[in-house]
Amino acid sequence: MNLHEYQGKKILKDNNVPIQEGVVVEKKEELLSAYDQLKKDTGTEAAVIKAQIHAGGRGKGGGVKLAKNRAEVEQLGSDILGMMLKTPQTPGGLEGEGKLVRKVLIAEDAYAPDFDACDEIYMSILTDRDSGNNAIIYSTEGGMDIETVAEETPHLVHKEFVDPSIGLQPFQARKIAFNLGLTGKAFKEMTKFAANLYRSFINADATLVEINPVLKTADDRILAVDCKMSIDDAALFRRKEIAEMRDIHEEDPTEVEAKKYDLNYVKLDGNVGCMVNGAGLAMATMDIIKLSGGDPANFLDVGGTANAARVEQGFRIILSDQNVKAILINIFGGIVRCDRVAQGVVDACRNIDDLNVPIIVRLQGTNADIAKEIIDNSGLAVHSAVLLEEAAQLVKKVLS
Ligand code: GDP
Ligand code: MG
Repeated sequence: MNLHEYQGKKILKDNNVPIQEGVVVEKKEELLSAYDQLKKDTGTEAAVIKAQIHAGGRGKGGGVKLAKNRAEVEQLGSDILGMMLKTPQTPGGLEGEGKLVRKVLIAEDAYAPDFDACDEIYMSILTDRDSGNNAIIYSTEGGMDIETVAEETPHLVHKEFVDPSIGLQPFQARKIAFNLGLTGKAFKEMTKFAANLYRSFINADATLVEINPVLKTADDRILAVDCKMSIDDAALFRRKEIAEMRDIHEEDPTEVEAKKYDLNYVKLDGNVGCMVNGAGLAMATMDIIKLSGGDPANFLDVGGTANAARVEQGFRIILSDQNVKAILINIFGGIVRCDRVAQGVVDACRNIDDLNVPIIVRLQGTNADIAKEIIDNSGLAVHSAVLLEEAAQLVKKVLS
């Protein structure tokens, strides 16, 4: 699950990571009171208006603007709230339709009083599966696209591996500050910053924390100006206060619907809808569809305990995708009984009015014979296959 900048910054602050302070606003009428509050708390005169959407590169798209005074806060805040913001990372990029800005963060001008005396640093922490460690990636070249820095000047991007069982060691934090070329107070601040950032990553069960830029101010303070954070979905059950930060406006509506029914659904770009039980079988099914010339429209694992109602919901979700030209149902009846799935398919077909795509069903395992009977006797135009290969051939046939 991804978080907004303001939500990630709250987690940072709770873990003693210094941040660029801000107040989040949803309505235009609240802009000025938010600014007044911020000014009272931080003494800032200028404020940065930052669009809160799940995409980076907001600055490039006009979603981060510096307001020099109260009047400009109202002006720029009203412009950004409610705009369709296009950034290189929103769907379709700068040519796409953009994303609706529902919230803005009114943040203190962290670069004041001397913008040019500030330095922008890059730092992120992520899980590194290859080494089984967490990795801290950092660079003196903050504020810009880190992929570009890595490509053009790879020697300026550093990596520090942290063994998750012992955590970040003080010598590692010092090495980071040293490689960033810091001295004196800034050096000390950076070691604390890195240690607390690592703590935030662990305490939030994050899979990614990216701070770009980390700011070194003219008076040698180190603070997080931006924050991108992703949380491990499997850990949300024990991070209730983070789970509540979920913003469904930022998620694919079909995936949101699927989650309601505990279905593991990921939308893809192809035309063959897939309904499978078990993630491994679902992956294999997608491979077979590809090999037979089709393209999967989704990944859907209905789980080991699928019942008729769950199958029907899965069906509806697959069909809500306009690209779907055929549906392949591939179920292995281990814990789930094939006859139950068959009943779900038949019920779904009857309950859904404009069902006009061909359906290929392969049911194997417990009660497969009863399942075949249910389907054959239903009078529905459902193709039934015994082998996965046959199912793939049927998909090919109905698509051509
Ligand atoms: P992003 O474009 O989505 O990555 O958003 P950021 O939060 O990283 O902001 C983009 C850029 O806006 C930063 O690299 C800064 O150059 C600028 N910026 C952000 N906060 C401030 C601020 O407090 N004062 C000034 N003067 N510029 C800021
Ligand atoms: Mg940024």
